[in-house]
Amino acid sequence: MRTGVFVCSCGPNIGDRIDIEKIADEVSGIEGVVLAETHGLLCSPDGKKYLEERIKENDLERVVIAACSPREHEITFMKVCETAGLNPFMMQMANIREQVAWVTPDRESATRKALKLVRGAINRTIRHKPLEKTSIVCNPEIVIVGGGIAGMSAALLLADADRKITIIEKNSSLGGHPGNKDLAAHFCEAVKERKEITVITGCEPEEIVGFFGNFIIKPGEDIEEIRAGSIVLATGCMVDDNGRDTAPDGFRKMTEMLRITTDENGFPGREHASLAPVSTPIDGVYVTGCAGGLCSPGEAVSRSEAVAGTILSSLIPGREVETEPRTSVISETLCRGCKTCLEVCGYGAISFDDERLVCTVNSVLCKGCGNCAAACPSGAIKSQHFTPDQIRYQMAGLLR
Ligand code: SF4
Ligand code: SF4
Repeated sequence: MRTGVFVCSCGPNIGDRIDIEKIADEVSGIEGVVLAETHGLLCSPDGKKYLEERIKENDLERVVIAACSPREHEITFMKVCETAGLNPFMMQMANIREQVAWVTPDRESATRKALKLVRGAINRTIRHKPLEKTSIVCNPEIVIVGGGIAGMSAALLLADADRKITIIEKNSSLGGHPGNKDLAAHFCEAVKERKEITVITGCEPEEIVGFFGNFIIKPGEDIEEIRAGSIVLATGCMVDDNGRDTAPDGFRKMTEMLRITTDENGFPGREHASLAPVSTPIDGVYVTGCAGGLCSPGEAVSRSEAVAGTILSSLIPGREVETEPRTSVISETLCRGCKTCLEVCGYGAISFDDERLVCTVNSVLCKGCGNCAAACPSGAIKSQHFTPDQIRYQMAGLLR
C-alpha cells in the first residue's frame, strides 16, 4: 500500500496557525506512507500539477490531502487523481482549515488536533475501495405539465428546435383558463399541426422519479410512462377563500413528487429569484406561466421563452450525465421488508419488490445521501464509501 500525504498551507490560512512541517514529519513514519510533503497552495494550477506529478512519480495507491473543506475542493483533487491515473475514491481529505486553523487559536493545540485528523484520514484510506463512475445519455425530450397559453407556447418554441414534447393536461382539452382567448385558440391550432408535440388530456402525473436528463413520468392509470430529460410545470393557479393566489392541489402533489421546496402558497422555490427565475432548485425542472405565480398572457409567453432557452442550452442531445458511484446497497438477506428506507429516500430511489418482499435501490436514481442507511432498523443498507468499517478505521486513527 503506497500512501502519499500532502499538507497544504493554504497561503497563510493554515500555515500561520498550524505547524504543517511537523505534521508531515510525524505522519511520514506511519506504515504505508511513502511520502509526506507540504505545499503552499495545492488548489492552484501549480499545486495541482505538482500533485499530479507526485502521484505518478511515486506510483501512489492512496492519497491524503490535509487542507480545506472537502466541500470546497474535494472535486478539484479527485479530478487531479483521475488525471494522474488514480481512482479518485482512493483520495481522502482532512479538513484542517475550517475544522482546525480557523477555530483553534493556540498553535500547539491546533497542530495536535490537525495531526489527529490526518491520522484518521490515512487510516480510513486503508479501507477505501475504488468505485467506478458511469454515465448515461440525457434524454432530449421534454414533458410539459399544463396545456394553457404558457405550456403551449413553451411546447411550440421547443418544437421549433426539433425537440419532442409531451403536454399533459388535466382537462379534456388544451387552452386552460386563458386571459386572452384568441391567443389560446391560436396556440391550440398551432399545437395540433406540430408532429413533434404529443398531447395527453384528462390526467395528471401520478408518479415522477428521476433526475435531470432522465425523468420517468407516469401520467395516470393505463397510460404508458413517459421518459424525458426535463419537466416544465405550466399549470395555472387558483384563488383561495382569502383571495390569495395559490397553487392547485395537483400541482402541490407534483412538487412533493419532485421534492421541490414551495412557499406558503404552494408555488415552487427558484434556484435564484433574479438570475434563474424559471429554474427550480431541482436540475431540469422549470416553471412557467401561473405555475410561478399569477401573470398576464404576455408574461406567460415571456416566461416560456426563458424556459425554452434554458432547456435548449442545457439539455443537449447526446450529452452524458455522470451517475453517483457512492450509492447505497441493500442486503437482501438482512432486509426484513419494513419499507422504512422507502419512506425516507427523498429521491424515489428505493422500491419494494413484491415477490421477494425486500427493498431495492435503483443506483441510477440514488444520490448517496445515506438517509436510508441511517434509518434502516436491520442494518441492511450499506452506503458505499461511507461504510461502518471505513468510519471505524477513521475513528481509530483519530483516537490513537
Ligand atoms: S429499512 Fe432496512 S429492513 Fe426495512 S425495508 Fe429498508 S432495507 Fe429492508
Ligand atoms: S442513499 Fe439517499 S438517495 Fe440513495 S437510496 Fe438511500 S435515501 Fe435514497
